[in-house]
Amino acid sequence: MTVKQLLEGKPFMTEFGIVGYSTVVLVEDEKQKILYDTGNKSTALQLKKALQDNGLTCDDITDVVISHLHFDHVGNLPLFHKANFYLSKTEWLNATDCPDEWHCIATCDYLRKNGNLNFVKEGDHISPLVTVMELPGHTLGLVGLKCGEDTILCSDAIKNRYELWQDIPLMTADADKSKATIERLLMRWEPPVHWRWEKWKVPSAAFPL
Ligand SMILES: [Zn+2]
Repeated sequence: MTVKQLLEGKPFMTEFGIVGYSTVVLVEDEKQKILYDTGNKSTALQLKKALQDNGLTCDDITDVVISHLHFDHVGNLPLFHKANFYLSKTEWLNATDCPDEWHCIATCDYLRKNGNLNFVKEGDHISPLVTVMELPGHTLGLVGLKCGEDTILCSDAIKNRYELWQDIPLMTADADKSKATIERLLMRWEPPVHWRWEKWKVPSAAFPL
């Protein structure tokens, strides 16, 4: 199994509002090509190019795990209409019952019509070595992936180094849950800080070192 970052997450704050570009990660084994998040819609060309550089097309992706339904993570879902989509039920219910400014209503409609959405929970397997982790806080239904013994993909559960090192969530639906999630992830590893950052793939908003 290999884990590769296809697109690097970047946040921008402008006078007109926030522009988000989520990290997109490819997890491959012999049978499955799994994407963790699909990025901002405006990065479709870059995502196709990154797949091409890895010898793949969009149609080769077998599974897409949606960490949460914020617009910068789900913009390119329609590129992967042949794949199985995975999401937590909590995330789905929150986004459809009470969407906020980060949710994309069009994405929820797309998922509703497409018919390939599967709900997942803690411990579910996406592939033999890839399992779901429930990491609530940033949103109540955010899910991460544990990939083998070396890598946890945690999306916006830890968005940047400040949250990682200071254990203080910056943008969260539930601060207590966010702190518990960060503590859980830190307890899982307990490495030196520099090593920790190297091994932790990949916060959505990857601030430059
Ligand atoms: Zn988010």
